[in-house]
Amino acid sequence: MRVIETDVLVVGAGPGGSTAARYAARGGARTLLIEKKQEIGSPVRCAEGIAQSWMEECEVPLDPAWVACTPEGARIFAPNGRHAVVSSGHAGDEVGLVIERTLFDKALAGYAAQAGAQILLKTHACGVIASNGTVRGVKGKSMGEDIEIYARITIAADGFESQVARWAGMETGLDPCDIISTFQYRLCNIECNPSYCDFYVGSCAPGGYIWVFPKGPGTANVGIGIAATRLADPGQTKASLDRWIAGKPEFSKGQALDMTAGGISKNKPLPSLVSSGFMMVGDAARLINPLTGGGIVNACISGKLAGETAADSVARGDSGEKFLQKYDRAWRDRMQKSHIRNWKAKQKFDTLDDGFFNRIIQTLSETKPHANTLSMLLALAKKHPTLVADFVDLLWT
Ligand SMILES: Cc1cc2nc3c(=O)[nH]c(=O)nc-3n(C[C@H](O)[C@H](O)[C@H](O)COP(=O)(O)OP(=O)(O)OC[C@H]3O[C@@H](n4cnc5c(N)ncnc54)[C@H](O)[C@@H]3O)c2cc1C
Repeated sequence: MRVIETDVLVVGAGPGGSTAARYAARGGARTLLIEKKQEIGSPVRCAEGIAQSWMEECEVPLDPAWVACTPEGARIFAPNGRHAVVSSGHAGDEVGLVIERTLFDKALAGYAAQAGAQILLKTHACGVIASNGTVRGVKGKSMGEDIEIYARITIAADGFESQVARWAGMETGLDPCDIISTFQYRLCNIECNPSYCDFYVGSCAPGGYIWVFPKGPGTANVGIGIAATRLADPGQTKASLDRWIAGKPEFSKGQALDMTAGGISKNKPLPSLVSSGFMMVGDAARLINPLTGGGIVNACISGKLAGETAADSVARGDSGEKFLQKYDRAWRDRMQKSHIRNWKAKQKFDTLDDGFFNRIIQTLSETKPHANTLSMLLALAKKHPTLVADFVDLLWT
């Protein structure tokens, strides 16, 4: 049995974990980042769309090495085929860049290493070490060897299927109506427009949408998300995407280079993201944007805030729940309002039928292409007052 002691242990080297490790190490804490896979960033389970607005905040310089495509905006297609154009600045967390996650995730882990974090691959947590209600680290396996890692702060960054948070006794359970089931192909040999990330809404993807995110000439991530409660059986997600692709002449010669499936949460914020000696970030903390399903940005921002608090906690010698609530307050100040707004919007959109989507997108298509959010919402509020009435007060923030 190998035993390691550190100040901050981060479990999972996705965007959330690597960013948390970077900021904890930069703040002077001995930081260990463990990843169960043998390669950071692979396999990819993502449509790879991301906004650019957050990058300065998280000190991530734009690197052409991990940019696959720079679409100028999004097109939202109604069930009747009509579409509205939204500029990348107003299209949410998923539009602005289409990236190569295998390289992007490695770049973020590289920043953590530069800040002084140690990285252990093929090392997975399989239980939490706790005493007197405080998380003291994890037990697991590293390259097949039993391991115990003791830490003053443990950060769960182990993604949507997070077990670390559950082992730590956190409430992260999801209502089935807050889960989206996804399936995606990377298709080559297709016709796609590299200028736009395309979204198709309505009965083609109940409770979700179909996306076509261009990766480069003739290649795109083509995927579907469907509300779990609208599925008769789990195979329906892939079958629905296959059926939709078969009906698109521009994809008729398409071949899949890879495929992936996974869950996405679309819940209201959890009651707490911390306990004594413990924090959680990113998908493990259920911080995916409930409206768009984008989670990379929130993973990085929450990772930064958690990493800073972890370093501060180590410096002050206080890893109690009360001190760590500093992180809980920080992420709520930064993103809770927009998270609740997006959740409300999602609740509303879940109730709309194809006819309503056709009318909304018709209205949006009549606003100027690339209109800002305010003018689009004013147009919607004028023509469809009941649609925006419930959350209009939150929309201007
Ligand atoms: C099909 C699909 C498409 C998506 N498209 C987009 C998109 O276009 N844009 C966007 O912003 N978001 C998208 N998302 C969501 C996005 O992928 C996530 O929000 C993002 O990856 C969250 O980052 P994270 O660091 O929290 O978790 P993850 O990226 O999931 O990283 C978690 C890491 O923890 C590791 N791990 C897990 N358990 C353990 C363990 N016990 N011990 C050690 N390591 C462990 C995993 O191997 C993984 O590397 C999509 C999701 C899916 C499923």
